[in-house]
Amino acid sequence: MKFGTKAIHAGVEPDPTTGAIMTPIYQTSTYVQESPGKHKGYEYARTQNPTRTVLQNNLAALENGKHGICYSSGLGATDAILKLFRPGDQIIASNDLYGGTYRIMVRVFQEFGLKFKFVDLSDPGKLEAALTPDDLSGRTKMVWIETPTNPLLRLVDIAAIAAITKSHGIQLVVDNTFASPYLQNPLDLGADIVLHSVTKYLGGHSDTVMGAIILNNDETAQRLTFIQNACGAVPGPQDCFLVLRGIKTLHVRMERHCENTQKVAQYLQQHPKVSQVHYPGLESHPGHELAKRQMRGFGGMLSFELSGDSMPEAVRVMESFNVFSLAESLGGVESLCTHPASMTHASIPKEERQKNGLKDTLIRLSVGIEDVDDLIQDLAQAIG
Ligand SMILES: *Cc1c(COP(=O)(O)O)cnc(C)c1O
Repeated sequence: MKFGTKAIHAGVEPDPTTGAIMTPIYQTSTYVQESPGKHKGYEYARTQNPTRTVLQNNLAALENGKHGICYSSGLGATDAILKLFRPGDQIIASNDLYGGTYRIMVRVFQEFGLKFKFVDLSDPGKLEAALTPDDLSGRTKMVWIETPTNPLLRLVDIAAIAAITKSHGIQLVVDNTFASPYLQNPLDLGADIVLHSVTKYLGGHSDTVMGAIILNNDETAQRLTFIQNACGAVPGPQDCFLVLRGIKTLHVRMERHCENTQKVAQYLQQHPKVSQVHYPGLESHPGHELAKRQMRGFGGMLSFELSGDSMPEAVRVMESFNVFSLAESLGGVESLCTHPASMTHASIPKEERQKNGLKDTLIRLSVGIEDVDDLIQDLAQAIG
């Protein structure tokens, strides 16, 4: 089956008791047993829930994986992966990670004895160079990447990184949130584990917080399912229903996100008050060729810099929007904007931010699926 058909049908069967075409919301905490231990495969709703099972199977199909496992948030999924390890185990992560991922690594799991090394992985050669004999003595268990990255939309070559991790027997995790399974399938490129903040494009309607892991390895899947139940960060059935419903239009939404974002990027690129546009769909973007290779489209996220270095000017532009809403998060049908320097990256000192290419006038857009003429009109009046 092709992607759109899988999005609507994979793992979904009419309800056996009524024929209901939509998966019911099994809003229950427990299941009646005929006699002790004799039941229909469901005992307690932290352990299993039929609405969740359908969603997990659907997500596995979308990433061409064998197992899908859902958690109560993207960070809940991250937490489960990091619990695969023991004190002394090392994880090499991209130095350009989602802030919450960096925080759980350094402020939670580092305290428990896990080791983290942050490396610029936009160049796969830097991973090879960073692997000291000590790192390769068996203590490095995992490499963790995101692509495209936030907020500068840098690309990481998944297949090239996977070739290196495989040759050393290290596992590779790809946070595929920004691309969605419609645009990029890391397992097909050699990754071992895919992680999603389902909150974003998969849910797609800014009404649910959820996370998911998709993988092929049976043993690791069994351990992650054990952690899902043993640690308890499970999503509720109502949220699973909302995400199943959201996924039915994922391919259609992503097409429009990509189409709108390309037009917005081209508009901004020629604007005299815009000095730089970061979008992999532009030929001037350093990751453009790689994006063409590893993605089906260029996605719905972009960022741009205003000329000059005036933070108040960036703030004024963001306060002037009528259609774009100023809000954290991304991937919903409605357009959002954020100001990384004062919002998501405010805790990083200005000099450090600028060294990483993050200017005070940088504005990040999650381009929605409204009529693109209205979005461009809104940018025109706000930038002035
Ligand atoms: C939002 C996000 C997360 C965290 O997901 P939550 O659902 O908010 O816990 C992780 N990675 C990326 C790239 C994200 O955008």
